[in-house]
Amino acid sequence: MEKQKTLLELQNYIGGKFVVSAAYINSFDPSTGEIYCRVPDSSNEEVDSAVNAAKVAFPIWSSWSPQDRAAVMNKLADLIESHMEEFAQAESKDQGKTVTLARTLDIPRSVYNFRFFASSVLHHTTECTQMDHLNCMHYTVRTPVGVAGLISPWNLPLYLLTWKIAPAIACGNTVVAKPSEMTSVTAWMMCKLMNEAGLPPGVVNIVFGIGLRAGEALVCHPDVPIISFTGSTVTAQRIIEKSAPYCKKLSLELGGKNPAIVFEDANLDECISTTVRSSFSNQGQICLCTSRIYVQRSIYEEFLQRFVEATRKWKVCAPSDPTASMGALISENHLAKVKSYVKKALEEGATVVCGDGVDTLNIPPENQGGYFMLPTVITKLKEESCCMQEEIFGPVACVVPFDTEEEVIGKANGVKYGLAATIWTREVGRTHRVAKKLQVGLVWTNCWLVRDLNLPFGGMKASGLGREGAKDSYEFFTEVKTVTIKH
Ligand code: NAD
Repeated sequence: MEKQKTLLELQNYIGGKFVVSAAYINSFDPSTGEIYCRVPDSSNEEVDSAVNAAKVAFPIWSSWSPQDRAAVMNKLADLIESHMEEFAQAESKDQGKTVTLARTLDIPRSVYNFRFFASSVLHHTTECTQMDHLNCMHYTVRTPVGVAGLISPWNLPLYLLTWKIAPAIACGNTVVAKPSEMTSVTAWMMCKLMNEAGLPPGVVNIVFGIGLRAGEALVCHPDVPIISFTGSTVTAQRIIEKSAPYCKKLSLELGGKNPAIVFEDANLDECISTTVRSSFSNQGQICLCTSRIYVQRSIYEEFLQRFVEATRKWKVCAPSDPTASMGALISENHLAKVKSYVKKALEEGATVVCGDGVDTLNIPPENQGGYFMLPTVITKLKEESCCMQEEIFGPVACVVPFDTEEEVIGKANGVKYGLAATIWTREVGRTHRVAKKLQVGLVWTNCWLVRDLNLPFGGMKASGLGREGAKDSYEFFTEVKTVTIKH
């Protein structure tokens, strides 16, 4: 008889303890299509219990000095770092990303998130002004808000969750976090380190489960005055609606349809290797990935030929393979959705130059049930095509020519999103001119994904509300009060 595999079963982390849930859902390994673990399907009651634990912990944690809070956060960062490889393996298995990416991006950045906010919270100051003619002085006081509800997506699971937990607790809030139901394992692993790090019970509570149940219970909880959400624009619209009766403070980091604009004076060697990375890293499932590539007509043919050549060199295989450039997409449904865009493009008369339906995917037999797709390049698309307008969130890059600076700015801005853009040029003046006119929250010139966490991060238009970063997250996770004294 075949031996039954014991499945990993996660528990909620509430008030410093692991709590078994009443109901469970399956979570899949995208690289095989097999069940990887069972995740609590948390209910209103479980969310309520987590909120209560966070409420009890709030007066204690918020009275700690920033230095003491920072010390615990640094200890947690050290502990995660000392288990780097286990975290990287789990993140890769849970999300389908290459283990190399998990090891070099996701987990190190999660460690850094705690270290960064542990340090930055020590350096904020409040304001003081005087009105001598009225014998008055004014100052501002900042206080933590209370219990923060944090909701994160599946594409950078621990990275984006810790990007919320770290500033929230650094400022003295306590939190109830809900990671994506599709990628919960590394959050659960981190909970195992919290007691050892010295985090008092109830400061960080994690409830697992689906958005419409656990997520919405958090959004609608009257004792959670602040919600930080990263995910899709459609979910954010629902969160805005559901939280409206409570007038909650909201931070929303949402989808994108990010353009790369390649001018004829670009350094093509650097531009092509970076644009392949910006289009297909994590299987194109990073909100900042490039999905529309506008190339000045005089270099369009050369760019396309070299870009396709470089794309074909990207190896799609088992995420555990150290030579893999791309792993598997998150789910069967998502794979079908991404492929449906390629189909629609063909129906609209576009050309698929390489990738899906054109080249052959070579996947080892043990990964045949996984959700793999080749990096795909499409040309001859009209601006109004759904491939040019909608967020595909997969390994699909649309390459189109342009003639003038003015024309390309109009096209780049001609979508509902406004998250990020990349400009490739050697002309400094053009960089400033174009950057200023692009309706996006982030502009990279001659690079991609280079971030200084001190600076604001976030999108315009349907890409979000609010900004994250050292100062912005501090402002979001604290309430400000102006005090005036007549002397
Ligand atoms: P999603 O909106 O489906 O889910 C995100 C999270 O919200 C999950 O934890 C989910 O369970 C939860 N959720 C779903 N419905 C909910 C509801 N009604 N109430 C409360 N919570 C709910 O997004 P996703 O598919 O997990 O992630 C992909 C999306 O995230 C893409 O659009 C991508 O661009 C975006 N994203 C944005 C950023 C950014 O910083 N701007 C970063 C990463 C991902």
